[in-house]
Amino acid sequence: MQKIEHIGIAVKSLTHSVPLFEQLLNSLCYKTELVEGEKVNTAFFKAGETKIELLESTDAEGVIARFIEKKGEGIHHIAFEVTDMETEVKRLKKEGFLVLNEVPKPGADNKMVCFLHPKTTNGILIELCVEKK
Ligand code: ZN
Repeated sequence: MQKIEHIGIAVKSLTHSVPLFEQLLNSLCYKTELVEGEKVNTAFFKAGETKIELLESTDAEGVIARFIEKKGEGIHHIAFEVTDMETEVKRLKKEGFLVLNEVPKPGADNKMVCFLHPKTTNGILIELCVEKK
């Protein structure tokens, strides 16, 4: 795995949290994007080499809405950049990690993504991402 590409943070409201993170990071939100498949609105910030991705649910039954219901707002996932998704997924499966989707799906910010189940990663949802070609 390469660097931490971004950290995903579940928030109730982008309207509230975008200005908050702009103040916190002293950096303007450079992009917002709807990811229909995941029922989330996202907002991106740069913090050096790493990005922060805020996630707001667009649906009361969406994964982010459910996450916030259970755990409250906060860190939802950590995303690592990989160079070769297929090889990395194979390696992780062999090591015993539970890959939630072996076929990469479209994520925000021009990425294809796979997720590892938190029960095999000490409670942390791990996203693997690779730039779309
Ligand atoms: Zn993400």
